[in-house]
Amino acid sequence: MPKEIANKTKKETYYKCTHCGDEIFWNTHKKFTYCKCKKIWVDGCEDYVRVGGNEGDYKVLTK
Ligand SMILES: [Zn+2]
Repeated sequence: MPKEIANKTKKETYYKCTHCGDEIFWNTHKKFTYCKCKKIWVDGCEDYVRVGGNEGDYKVLTK
């Protein structure tokens, strides 16, 4: 299920797919962005960030 992670996101947060290793920046400007293998997706902007995928499908990276 998608998770709402509103207002907790730091500027340098990436969501990394544990399957294909793709890294998606949290701010996709409301564009639904899938990783290469489409296990996870990120839909984020200044107001909210939603991440799709199951527990363990992605890691949160802070750079
Ligand atoms: Zn992937």
